Amino acid sequence: MVTLAALQQAVSAVADPEIPVLTIADLGMLRDVALGADGRPVITITPSYSGCPAMRVIEADIRAALAALGCQDAELRIVLAPAWSSDWLSEAGRAKLQAYGIAPPTPSRPNCPRCGAADTELLAAFGSTACKALWRCTACREPFDHFKCH
Ligand SMILES: [Zn+2]
Repeated sequence: MVTLAALQQAVSAVADPEIPVLTIADLGMLRDVALGADGRPVITITPSYSGCPAMRVIEADIRAALAALGCQDAELRIVLAPAWSSDWLSEAGRAKLQAYGIAPPTPSRPNCPRCGAADTELLAAFGSTACKALWRCTACREPFDHFKCH
């Protein structure tokens, strides 16, 4: 019999396929891990971006993590309301993004994650993925991704 703590640990460690330094727990996508009355794990997640193809990968990774614990029969609940917001990103998640060279979500112009300069310009509204915008620092001239606010 798997414990709730083991389930939480395994599911929390599932990484975001687009930003592998972040887990779904860092992103705030993982809303709840519970054991149902019948002993089946019930995992509740809210996708960070509706229609994001990463969601299928995340679902498969959660099932794989559960299967590794011997839970073949889990219930995955996708909850769309309230909608995910970049405010759900944890402080640890923001620090990991910064260290990875991606400016964490900000309501205003992002600072350069490399040199910290505030003087940055938008190059493209869609960066390497739809979830990121491409910016360039006018101080160190380096382009960088900015995790977009929703
Ligand atoms: Zn810079």
